[in-house]
Amino acid sequence: MSESKSAVLEQLRELLGDSGVRETPDDFLPDIILKPSSTEEVSEILKICSAAGQAIVPIGGKSGLASGHHQTDSELGLSLERMNAIEEIDTANRTMTVQAGCILQLAHEAAEEHDLLLPLDLGARGSATVGGNVATNAGGNMVIRYGMVRDMVLGLEVVLADGTVVSSMNKMLKNNTGYDLKQWFIGAEGTLGIITRVVFRLRPQPRSQNTALLAVDDFASVRRLLHWLDGHTAGTLSAFEVMWPEFYDHITREGGNHTPPLPRGSAHYVLVETLGSNPAADADSFENVLAEAMEQGMVSDAVLTRSQSERNALWEIRDDVLDFFVLGPFIPFDISVTVDRMEGFIGDIRRGAEAANFDICVIFGHLGDCNLHVLLGNRDAASFDPEAVEAFLYDTVERYQGSVSAEHGVGLAKRAQLPRSRSPEELRLMMGLKKMLDPDNILNPNKIFTVDQIAAS
Ligand code: ZN
Repeated sequence: MSESKSAVLEQLRELLGDSGVRETPDDFLPDIILKPSSTEEVSEILKICSAAGQAIVPIGGKSGLASGHHQTDSELGLSLERMNAIEEIDTANRTMTVQAGCILQLAHEAAEEHDLLLPLDLGARGSATVGGNVATNAGGNMVIRYGMVRDMVLGLEVVLADGTVVSSMNKMLKNNTGYDLKQWFIGAEGTLGIITRVVFRLRPQPRSQNTALLAVDDFASVRRLLHWLDGHTAGTLSAFEVMWPEFYDHITREGGNHTPPLPRGSAHYVLVETLGSNPAADADSFENVLAEAMEQGMVSDAVLTRSQSERNALWEIRDDVLDFFVLGPFIPFDISVTVDRMEGFIGDIRRGAEAANFDICVIFGHLGDCNLHVLLGNRDAASFDPEAVEAFLYDTVERYQGSVSAEHGVGLAKRAQLPRSRSPEELRLMMGLKKMLDPDNILNPNKIFTVDQIAAS
């Protein structure tokens, strides 16, 4: 350890006590993690670190998929796990004020106790922290209805690189008083400031939930169906998840973990769900809307769920991505393309994968959000060439003017791909913002941009 780092650590131990400075044996994380218990302590930590030029990696629930919480040099880790209080549920204004280290699922449950909904749901809900979710602008399964995290954050408290605490704990939905500062930090992956507290907008808890799995023969019908459902469910459509046959047929295979609710072999399977307020009426209208979609030829087969366990069984099919690891090595991609370009994109991916002998090519995703997940690799591990797979996939995304990251962020994993989706002018503005807010580059350095890129900008 360098002399300056040990001097910094000595000051930090004095500030936080021994329990606030923990060593972690982990290959990817910093070996020392700071655990402050208040915003004031976070501020003091950053004052000490910026004076010494000591870099910091903020660490949430470690469920991120872009390596945004990994160590790249000799950073110290900063975990807000002790700052996990739900400070207030304001039922009059329907907001929740919560510290950044709170686990997402606990925030959900707290809202539910007041018959309210925090409309952010994702697979890692039991370990992800709300601070990490906000810092990465998480997406998940209800984006089509409620938007991404940035659509549900009303206010933030952030500590800047120099220790300045910026409290922007707004509770009002409308507040056009100049620049919307909170949006600088949402999705910035901890590179512009450390998020310490959040005000979320809460929604009424839904009273009804209607779920169905539909078979659709051609992509034009998938697109029509999306607009049809969106237009005939009075704003209650909360999921429109599409699985292509390589996904569905594998997950529901003979001897697998899931029984097929519909026969295998269709061109598309669409999991649709509405969240409403009137159980009896919503179930009827859901059924009618789907019946009409079948009459009009958009849907060739359908199964409606009648119980929570049937509903869970459908979602377990959609969520069982781990079941693909039996096939062989692959890269799980998270990309966006607009819906009107999606059919051409998927055709190019399939044909190109076949030509390049990538014989794992599985496509599924949140189609209503333009977000596809593509698993691309080789059944035979010896033929797997991750660089070739990445180059092929991202070349195709760029050709279709898509986004190299839909909901997983940039971190280290997609840093090199950023110019494919963002213009030089956009990248320059981003780097300018980084330099202004973090002139010594101590906040999560090497994420989104390399240290060298920032220095040269
Ligand atoms: Zn996803």
